[in-house]
Amino acid sequence: MTDAAAAKAQAAHAGLEAPRTIVVIGGGQAAGWVVKTLRKEGFDGRLVMIADEVHLPYERPPLSKAVLAGEADIDTVRLVKPDDFEALNVEAWQPDCATSIDREQRIVRTQSGREVQYDRLVIATGGAARKLPESLVKTSHVAYLRTLDEAVALGERLRASKRVLVVGGGWIGLEVAATARKLGVEATVVEGAPRLCARSLPPMVSGFLLDLHRANGVDVRLNATLVSLEDHPNDATRMRATFADGSTLDADFAVAGIGLTPHTALAQAAGVKVEDGIVVDHFGATDDPRIFACGDVANHPSAWLKRRVRLESWANAQNQAIAAAKALLGIFEPYADIPWFWSDQYDVNLQILGDIPGDAQLAVRGDLPGKRATLFYLEDSAIRGVIAINTPRELKLSRKWMNQGRTIDLATLTDATTALA
Ligand code: NAP
Repeated sequence: MTDAAAAKAQAAHAGLEAPRTIVVIGGGQAAGWVVKTLRKEGFDGRLVMIADEVHLPYERPPLSKAVLAGEADIDTVRLVKPDDFEALNVEAWQPDCATSIDREQRIVRTQSGREVQYDRLVIATGGAARKLPESLVKTSHVAYLRTLDEAVALGERLRASKRVLVVGGGWIGLEVAATARKLGVEATVVEGAPRLCARSLPPMVSGFLLDLHRANGVDVRLNATLVSLEDHPNDATRMRATFADGSTLDADFAVAGIGLTPHTALAQAAGVKVEDGIVVDHFGATDDPRIFACGDVANHPSAWLKRRVRLESWANAQNQAIAAAKALLGIFEPYADIPWFWSDQYDVNLQILGDIPGDAQLAVRGDLPGKRATLFYLEDSAIRGVIAINTPRELKLSRKWMNQGRTIDLATLTDATTALA
């Protein structure tokens, strides 16, 4: 971040009175971390959180795993225990939905007819599961997974099923397929692209995941174009998928994990700048100095990636929210984390840290087919990104080196007989 950018943010803040009422729109992980951090940093004014779900903030990573498997519920996934939330003295307007932001009068109005005037506003509205085209779906046996209630309902259905069709070979799709197999449910994954998780993984790791799922009995179909999902002709309690090549596949139901649509409409209608998410600076501030955004909905300048990005990850929701909450109170600590993401599937913990440039030098340490390997992506002898397959310690060490800007000897990285540390 440039000093000029920091100075600009601080000058905008200095022109405003100290906040007495802060309103947070959203009730997910980012919103939860905003309210927690505001109170931790000593904000004792009015704090209103407007959220459309009935649940207090919770964490999403277990939804496609333990919650689906029936091993976790709201009490296991909560971000804050009810008593601790009570102690934060937050007016939680739930379930309610903010319908407009009047920037001139600084008023947020809600669906239930309530309104509140803010000194500062945080938009942490996240997003919704992208829906399959209506022209394709002619059955009610299609589900999506974004909220806790959806995960609970999906889990009940999955546990009573014999075969599930998963549409989308991304993170939701693969985690749902892995959970299905764990429950003894047959699973087919259909992906339109020629490989799995093509947007976030290099071909080598897509191939590794393909082998992993096939070895666990998942029928993975790449380059698959769905043309319809309809009720089974002889059994309306089930469904049938038809593909462009004319083939069909029967299943009890389908789960679609085909991406996320950020909830930007409210900000856009209010004239806040939106470009693949709500555009914010390193502190989460939008082009209106009274309005901040964070989490899945925010598009921020990433110091590590050297470009703007909207990150849909657990770590981003938490740490960007903390930086934004502090900045609201005049504590300017730029959000500059190296992007980090993980997924658990079967006996594999896969973590991605940093950038995976196509032209970077690759150093592999360990044995990828053997499910224990670290892939280092280097530029000018420094690590730009890491993919760790069951090697969390190596990822942790890499994060330290990356933050230190250390150059690394390639031969040492790949020599499994030398301890990395
Ligand atoms: P995602 O990771 O973007 O994957 C969606 C996949 O579906 C992509 O491979 C996409 O291909 C494919 N697709 C799109 N339309 C399709 C169609 N009509 N037929 C077949 N395939 C299609 O999104 P997601 O899996 O839905 O996950 C949603 C969000 O939750 C993401 O932000 C994800 O990172 C997050 N999440 C995170 C975790 C974790 O942290 N472990 C776990 C689950 C979910 P194209 O790219 O070619 O469009």
